[in-house]
Amino acid sequence: MNYAIFGPPGSGKTTQAKLLAEKLNLNFLDSGTVLRASFDTEFGNKAKEYMDRGELVPDELQFQIVGDYVAKECDPNKGFVFTGFPRTFEQISFMENMFGGGFDKVFVLVVSKEEFLKRLAKRAILENRSDETPEAIEERLSEYNSKTTPVINYYREKGVVEEINGERSVEEIFEDILARV
Ligand code: AMP
Repeated sequence: MNYAIFGPPGSGKTTQAKLLAEKLNLNFLDSGTVLRASFDTEFGNKAKEYMDRGELVPDELQFQIVGDYVAKECDPNKGFVFTGFPRTFEQISFMENMFGGGFDKVFVLVVSKEEFLKRLAKRAILENRSDETPEAIEERLSEYNSKTTPVINYYREKGVVEEINGERSVEEIFEDILARV
């Protein structure tokens, strides 16, 4: 079984994907976390330049880093919970080649701009992420709307999308996701 969780920056997708992977005993793959953990490598250092501007990391570079993580850290006998990936049509092809199939369900966390901007402001203080400046956040949103929304629509046409109200507690959202798995 493979699942994906989508949502704008600050929607809580990493938290929910981690919970789901733990619950179902699946590999957890959050491309943003994998990329941030690679900052001290040659490829990761290059990726950071794009990330700090809020731009998507070019596919070739991203595939190198995420592919390496999958090869080293993931159990090929288990399914995956992805988040942050795929974000472009090229990444859909990469993922379909790598896993020989698509997703059983795609969960989309729906959170208003007002709410996720509030959460990001809080996170900027707590985590000190280098891509949580106002300029980078605007760019990340624009990347999400222009490149990732069409990816969500691709899965919507396949009939696997479940929209989830993301403006509730972590527990309530997770319960809702589990009920729809
Ligand atoms: P996130 O943690 O999902 O907000 O991702 C943080 C940043 O990592 C994004 O703004 C992108 O620069 C980069 N990133 C994460 N996942 C991908 C991906 N699948 N493709 C390209 N860039 C990515």
